[in-house]
Amino acid sequence: MSEQYSADVVVVGAGICAGTVAKELAEAGLSVLVLEAGPRWERGEVVENWRNMPPVNKSESDYATPYPAQPWAVHPQLNPYNEYPEVSEPDASAFRQGMIKGIGGTTWHWAASCWRFLPADLQLHSTYGVGRDWAVTYDELEEYFLIGVNGPNDTSLKYVAPLKKPFPMEPMPYGPADRRFTEVVAQAGYINTPVPQGRNSRPYDGRPQCCGNNNCMPICPIGAMYNGIHSVVKAENAGAKFIPNAVVYRIDTDKDNNITAMHYYDPDTVSHTVTAKTFVLAGNGIETPKLLLLAANDRNPNGIANSSDQVGRNMMDHPGILMSFQASEPIWTGGGSVQMSSITNFRDGDFRRDHSAIQIGMNNTSQNHKAGVKALQMGLVGKKLDEEIRRAACGMDIYVNHDVLAHPDNRLTLSTERKDKLGIPFPHVTYDVGDYVRRSAVHSRQHLMNIAKLFGATEIEMTPWFNPNNHIMGGTIMGHDPKDSVVDKWMRTHDHKNLYIASGGAMAAAGTVNSTLSMVALSLRACDSIKKEMLHA
Ligand SMILES: Cc1cc2nc3c(=O)[nH]c(=O)nc-3n(C[C@H](O)[C@H](O)[C@H](O)COP(=O)(O)OP(=O)(O)OC[C@H]3O[C@@H](n4cnc5c(N)ncnc54)[C@H](O)[C@@H]3O)c2cc1C
Ligand code: SF4
Repeated sequence: MSEQYSADVVVVGAGICAGTVAKELAEAGLSVLVLEAGPRWERGEVVENWRNMPPVNKSESDYATPYPAQPWAVHPQLNPYNEYPEVSEPDASAFRQGMIKGIGGTTWHWAASCWRFLPADLQLHSTYGVGRDWAVTYDELEEYFLIGVNGPNDTSLKYVAPLKKPFPMEPMPYGPADRRFTEVVAQAGYINTPVPQGRNSRPYDGRPQCCGNNNCMPICPIGAMYNGIHSVVKAENAGAKFIPNAVVYRIDTDKDNNITAMHYYDPDTVSHTVTAKTFVLAGNGIETPKLLLLAANDRNPNGIANSSDQVGRNMMDHPGILMSFQASEPIWTGGGSVQMSSITNFRDGDFRRDHSAIQIGMNNTSQNHKAGVKALQMGLVGKKLDEEIRRAACGMDIYVNHDVLAHPDNRLTLSTERKDKLGIPFPHVTYDVGDYVRRSAVHSRQHLMNIAKLFGATEIEMTPWFNPNNHIMGGTIMGHDPKDSVVDKWMRTHDHKNLYIASGGAMAAAGTVNSTLSMVALSLRACDSIKKEMLHA
């Protein structure tokens, strides 16, 4: 028999945004029920899964497989590739996103780079006449940057965002590769600065200090890196209830277009109903627009919250170009966390009127798996095998990420080809990075070649296409005008007074840097609005 639950607030999804919302609202005294499509994992179990994975998966950076996808909660898999989400040309390669479905969500296996956007990133149209403006300014957002981040407090560093309060932790010391990278690129005027990181450079918030073992993706074995699960546990301690394996698929509305109920399937496709006063969708930038379209009903035939026809449009990420090479000296990537520094010269400037801003960086991921698998595939044994593996010390991966503009034709719809076990269609995304990025990429490739030259590189390989970066933005875009946006500056949907969206989907311009810190900040703004409405009305 189907169960019915009721709470003050129902939250859909149990990732970092949902966990933050549940924690904030439960601590404020509201009853909170969280529905999560995927299962619950334990840290030790995932560490074991990763240890036992075939080396070839490790060499291909397959970070999802240690978190096995369930048939009722399909997430993207690399090996074998499962076409989730489906992506159409011209730039399909640039939107093959990573995400995982389970309690704690995708940040179980993130890199925890916690950059702040620059003020101009949020006012791109007003400043440079391109793209769209966010509905909030940097000043309004800054008070909501609350994840414990270690970072540089020296704002004279090129394009570190303004700080009203210092970072709570000092930056981590660089490993050998980041130290050498900084020295070498400085010869050509590139300014390499510490990446603000959501990992502990000292014991903090009940979690240990990072020990620099470089396992961050797919899992930090000791919990020094901040994950969504930490917010989940705090929310549970404050009384929030989390239901795993609960896939929300239908949304009911009343005559005033308020949300009255949501329905979820359990793994046996038995439907259950939940009711609440306020609902928050936090299923990430792909799954939330998918659900809004899927849940179309008689009153909302184009989808929930979609009177503007903007749900699923303006999909964004940071299209990347990746270059690998052998340096002429040992660099020793792999000491410290996976992303420690980045070149910030080109994050902002008047050139943004013409082409996109960029972030350039070195992946500090250990090269050992890649080199080891290659050596075995070459059939080497004995001394030759040993020599080949040792070449990992000189291997380097350098990336450039681009600021893409919001475009309504970059659109998520429901697949007409593929469905999951519950009969729910896969998401389908049509994606074109646009000429703004393509013009910038000409310069990006030159920068990459300059850097290769500085390192005396051989065996240079550069992707001819754009790759994804898993920073999913845009599909439920924010704005002041209900006719061309989905949510307002408090993440409340224009169409439904008691429905909020806590996700990167609201972001109206992508900037150049990893966006999760800002997603969490937007989610906290939603909490302030909900608390004002429900506790102080
Ligand atoms: C390999 C990798 C590295 C990354 N590194 C960084 C980084 O260094 N810095 C950075 O800023 N970002 C990084 N990201 C991106 C970051 O992980 C995401 O931005 C972040 O997880 C988004 O949080 P979220 O809460 O919106 O969504 P998620 O963490 O994806 O959680 C959403 C949850 O909602 C659930 N859900 C969805 N639909 C439904 C439904 N209908 N019913 C019930 N539940 C549902 C899902 O199962 C999922 O558990 C990385 C991503 C990847 C893949
Ligand atoms: S380097 Fe190791 S300890 Fe530090 S965050 Fe990454 S996995 Fe955790």
